[in-house]
Formats: sequence, structure tokens, C-alpha cells
Amino acid sequence: MSVHEMRLPDTIVIGRGLMKIAAEVVSRACLGKPVVMATSKTPHRLIGASIVDSLEQRRIEVECHYVEHARARDVQELEDVVDPAVCGAVVAVGGGRVLDVAKMASNNRRVKFVSVPTAASHDGIASQMASVEGLGTAFSAVVQPPFAVVADMEVIERAPFRYTASGCGDLISKYTSVRDWKLGHQRTGEHFGEYAASLAQLSADIAMRRSRSIGARDPHSVRTVVEALISSGVAMSIEGSSRPCSGSEHLIGHVLGRLVENPPLHGECCGVAAIVMALLHKANWKRVRRALSEIGAPTDVHQLGVDREAFVEAMVVAPRIRPDRYTILSELRLDKRSAAEAAEKAGVI
Ligand SMILES: [Zn+2]
Repeated sequence: MSVHEMRLPDTIVIGRGLMKIAAEVVSRACLGKPVVMATSKTPHRLIGASIVDSLEQRRIEVECHYVEHARARDVQELEDVVDPAVCGAVVAVGGGRVLDVAKMASNNRRVKFVSVPTAASHDGIASQMASVEGLGTAFSAVVQPPFAVVADMEVIERAPFRYTASGCGDLISKYTSVRDWKLGHQRTGEHFGEYAASLAQLSADIAMRRSRSIGARDPHSVRTVVEALISSGVAMSIEGSSRPCSGSEHLIGHVLGRLVENPPLHGECCGVAAIVMALLHKANWKRVRRALSEIGAPTDVHQLGVDREAFVEAMVVAPRIRPDRYTILSELRLDKRSAAEAAEKAGVI
């Protein structure tokens, strides 16, 4: 067996009204040194400002830095305000973009990272993966996992439901990413971690099993979604890569994100792509589609707001952007016609 390093978060807290606990966790991370808080407007108002107050009561200096996009330039701007000689931790309070930028900047500066997600939109909330535009790759990079994750359900529930539905799309997409991984293992002999794969699969199963109550916005089910997103991050940490949680459906999502001007949310793309990929795997694609529909997540290109040509193009291009990741798309090598046929059969275009 080769050497296998697993980097996991030190602390994960999930609950309600966690402003004070978040400050306590941050102070444990920064050991009294100043912190940089990466955030955006609404998250700062909802919870960030209270965490700042609690930190200042503990005599911890906080510098707030607003993040607009998840681009290489945004990472650079944040790095410029993080001096590793002074800064004890970077705290991200916000949605996917803020978390990605802060995770990458803190990694590059070798400073601890604390994740305070304000939406349950994807599995990056606790993972060691960060997705940033303009770094030369269309997919996520392996960086450091968060030192701590503080998920305040009161805040997450106040985010537009579209974000939670997108998080479910990301979870349900593990239904095909695990199949792609198994296929890659059979075809190329790459490592297949049964435990990490089972954990990823479990996240998909739970989201599908609870689809109706998630769609009805039942707080217990939304909390389960957050736990499953965290758990998917742990699955990636156990494997040391995004392999358990990111297959052909994610490659399509990444390409789509670059092809269209106002791309849908990450989990929305992956969920829709997972319907077609499940069909190509000869798995229960109708179950995937039904679960997404019951949740209230998009199930076709119209709901995604992209045109059918772009989706078909993404299916064809996807296997080329990451040839090292063997998936059902590497196996089938679809052209535009066969891709369109499959997408049509799955009711996606
Ligand atoms: Zn994802």
C-alpha cells in the first residue's frame, strides 16, 4: 500500500445561533493573533458583524475584506491583506465564492482557514478543494481543508432555497461520480477507496431518500443536507482528491460554467448532468430526476437557463478537459449526435 495522507478539519460545529461559538472557534484557530475575515455584504450583515463583535470582545483584531467573485485576481487581493507573520487565521463568512477564494488564499499564505458557510450550495464548505476561475484549469484544486467549520442553521435557512436545492444537486451527483470512479478503477487500475466511495454514495442516497421533505423545507432535512455536504468533504479528504465526489457530471458542470455567460449554480449543473450520466451508466436515472424534481432543483436545460447546444457541447468537451479522470464519457466518446440523443432520452434537453 502506498502512503496515504488524510487531512481533516479539526473542529466541525453545526447548530443554531452560533455567533459566539464561531468567535470561540476562531480564537482557538488564531491563538489571539489578528484575523482577516473574507466576506460579502449580506453574510456580513447576517452573522459576520456579530462574530467580529465577539472577537473584538476577546481582544482579537479583525480586518474585513469583501470578496466579489471567485477569480484568480480575487485570491491575489485577499493574499495581499494576509500577512502570515501577523495573521492567525482567515475566516470566510459567506457562500461558495467567498469560501473558495478564502480557502485558496489562506492555503497559499499558509495560514489557518475557518469556514462559516451561509448557504448550503455545494460540498466545498468542509472540503480541501477550491474552485477559482483563471488558474489555467477548469476544475478544482487540492488545497488545505478548513481548520474548522461552523455551520449556523439559522443563517443557512435564511438563504434563498435555490442554494439548498443546488447543494442537493451536488449531493445527488455522487450517484454518478462514484460509478465513474469504480469504472475508472476497472479500466485503468487506479486506486478505489471503498470507504470514501461509500461515504460519497451515502450523501447521494440520503438526499434522494429525503427529497420530499427537503423540498418542503423541513429544517431537520435541511440540516441533514448540510451534514451530508460536510461528509462529502470528508470523503474527499479521506481519498486526498475530489475523485469520490466529482465525475463526468462535474466535468460537464465545469465546462458549462465556462461556456455560458451567466452560469447556473455549480450544484444545479451537476444535478442535471447526473441525470444523463446515470442514463449512460444504465443506472436508475429516473430516480435521480425524480429526486431533483421533488427537491425543487432544476432537471433540464430550460430550468438551468442554458441552451441545449451549450449542454450538448459540454457533454462532448467534458472528457477532454481532464483526461486523467476516467469516466463514462471517456468510455463512450460521444459526438454531438449521440450526446444529444442521450440528453433527449433523459428529458434534459
Ligand atoms: Zn461539487
